[in-house]
Amino acid sequence: MALPRPASLSPTKVTTFKDCALAFRLSNIDRIPEASTLAAVKGTIVHRALQLLFAEEDPADRTLGAALARLERAVPEVLSDAENADLELDEGSLAALVADAEVLVRHAFELEDPRGVRVIGTELRLSVQLGSLRLTGIIDRLDLDEDGGLVVTDYKTGRAPSTGYEQARLAGVHFYALLCEELLGVRPARIQLLHLREPVVISTVPTDQSLEAWRRQTTAVWSAVERACDNEDFRPRPGRMCGYCSYHPYCPAVGGDLSLLPRVAVPA
Ligand code: SF4
Repeated sequence: MALPRPASLSPTKVTTFKDCALAFRLSNIDRIPEASTLAAVKGTIVHRALQLLFAEEDPADRTLGAALARLERAVPEVLSDAENADLELDEGSLAALVADAEVLVRHAFELEDPRGVRVIGTELRLSVQLGSLRLTGIIDRLDLDEDGGLVVTDYKTGRAPSTGYEQARLAGVHFYALLCEELLGVRPARIQLLHLREPVVISTVPTDQSLEAWRRQTTAVWSAVERACDNEDFRPRPGRMCGYCSYHPYCPAVGGDLSLLPRVAVPA
């Protein structure tokens, strides 16, 4: 029996499908919730604090103090989200999480002076139809550079990639550049990843070639997803992602049982 197709593809979904088709199916078709992790929750808190800073403060008032005040607000807001209800934090681990989130917010100020950033919007949800494929994505921040060109900015709270893998890690941001060009009719002048851990900025200029490569790759992934749905054939691909995967109970590659799956839910 064919499985329902997911309603859209995002950079995360493309990466998940390429890493492991079964994990993609469980997340996006069966809609099995993934367990919260400290790293993911910390990332959400830092994103939220920086979003509040840029959305609420006038440029001249975007100080480190203002950012840390937003961080204080972001912590209970994110932790009280139902999605994170399964995360058990004792006093010590909560303090460590907040302290590390503060380090990341401080690092953001080492990478740029937020008072000089010309922000157009934060957490922008973009969606565009390309044939039978709907592309969706959330841009952390869209700015204007000194010449009036668009700059797509993505915050990263994990480790920066080693030399040689930088372009691969920029792939998701190329996806956002493609969304901007399709939706707004304007190609971003620059796309950048702000790696807050190191801290380091990795940036690139989108070109005809880079956007066409992304368009081709995304279309190919979508065709593969359609075929996998039609044939109900999403195979596990054991690898380094298994260590972070929530789906062990259902995954035959690690001793799980796919027949334990609940009925297929409405696709995302
Ligand atoms: S445990 Fe590994 S192989 Fe199985 S679904 Fe998760 S990532 Fe895929």
